[in-house]
Amino acid sequence: MGLVVQKYGGSSVADAEGIKRVAKRIVDAKKNGHQVVVVVSAMGDTTDELIDLAEQVSPIPAGREFDMLLTAGERISMALLAMAIKNLGHEAQSFTGSQAGVITDSVHNKARIIDVTPGRIRTALDEGNIAIVAGFQGVSQDKKDITTLGRGGSDTTAVALAAALDAEVCEIYTDVDGVFTADPRVVKKAKKIDWISFEDMLELAASGSKVLLHRCVEYARRYNIPIHVRSSFSGLQGTWVSNEPQGERKVEQAIISGVAHDTSEAKITVVGVPDKPGEAAAIFRAVADAEINIDMIVQNVSAASTGLTDISFTLPKAEGRKAIDALERAKGAIGFESLRYDDQIGKISLVGAGMKTNPGVTASFFQALSDAGVNIELISTSEIRISVVTRADDVNEAVTAVHTAFGLDSDSDEAVVYGGTGR
Ligand code: ASP
Ligand code: MG
Repeated sequence: MGLVVQKYGGSSVADAEGIKRVAKRIVDAKKNGHQVVVVVSAMGDTTDELIDLAEQVSPIPAGREFDMLLTAGERISMALLAMAIKNLGHEAQSFTGSQAGVITDSVHNKARIIDVTPGRIRTALDEGNIAIVAGFQGVSQDKKDITTLGRGGSDTTAVALAAALDAEVCEIYTDVDGVFTADPRVVKKAKKIDWISFEDMLELAASGSKVLLHRCVEYARRYNIPIHVRSSFSGLQGTWVSNEPQGERKVEQAIISGVAHDTSEAKITVVGVPDKPGEAAAIFRAVADAEINIDMIVQNVSAASTGLTDISFTLPKAEGRKAIDALERAKGAIGFESLRYDDQIGKISLVGAGMKTNPGVTASFFQALSDAGVNIELISTSEIRISVVTRADDVNEAVTAVHTAFGLDSDSDEAVVYGGTGR
């Protein structure tokens, strides 16, 4: 039996009862002969509460102090979990990200892990302890300041430790039974996926599926760490995310892995752009200089009479204001007529490597949307994904319709959501 890394999300350790329940699970893994490293998130909505508090004190909380504050959430849960395990008669020690050797760059609030040196974790394990590590945090290499990895970053901590410790598997415990063919909160007939490739999982995460963060899957693929996403509320097998199906679990890759949706984006239309070389470059340079990541882009054919065209793109709603300001400032230089901002949009994506070799997927996707009376505003594709932008109000209906059209509906049990937050 080897080493396992288990990660428990905030909804799994939301209160004392939850912590005790999780402690039992961890002890069971240890009793089964594993060396166990646990990564834990802050209890319930602690992180959100700390953010609220910071905003009450200052409208723009500073990066360094903000990280100091937020990492307190994970310190609370790690210490309580270690106590609960000791209470069950087993040895446990908790470690901050810094103590666990999680070294990051110095970009506060969204630091990247650049190295993991888990010497103290190894020692703790060799001495027979269960090691508990605070997720979502590290220490910067140059300034030795405490950093955080961005919201939901505990998953990445878990995968990074699993890679550094050469773990057999990284188990991510959450409040649903695994990765589903659609968000089970929206599509009641969503089916649990037994196995999904890193490739498809990355695309689902990039398309708005919240069960695993993109960065965490990227890391797991780079170091080839199998992830097992499962519920801490049930004993069921969850979803394996890996290069190849695991051992005896001979599951065939589905043509379509799932339907993801995202209502966190907005659309900006730059109206009346002169149709000449360099215009798109100038627009997207202005947006990039404001450090904004964009998603889809469409440019219309210019009207022959005016020589003007429109360019639309989508971006996170949270960056909307910043993008508009940046473009307004560059308006004179770029020479467009006006800007339109729309945050009542939603994105629906169909994902599956099988679409590379199965003709007609795109046509069926559009047919399903048309049958549901959903109007399409933008379209973008990759080799294994088709995405459309629609009205936000249409998203739930569209996801459900597409899910049914591709035969993904389950005919047995409805998907169970045990917690509330999906983390
Ligand atoms: N507690 C942090 C958050 O809520 C990190 C995590 O849960 O992964 O974003
Ligand atoms: Mg959390």
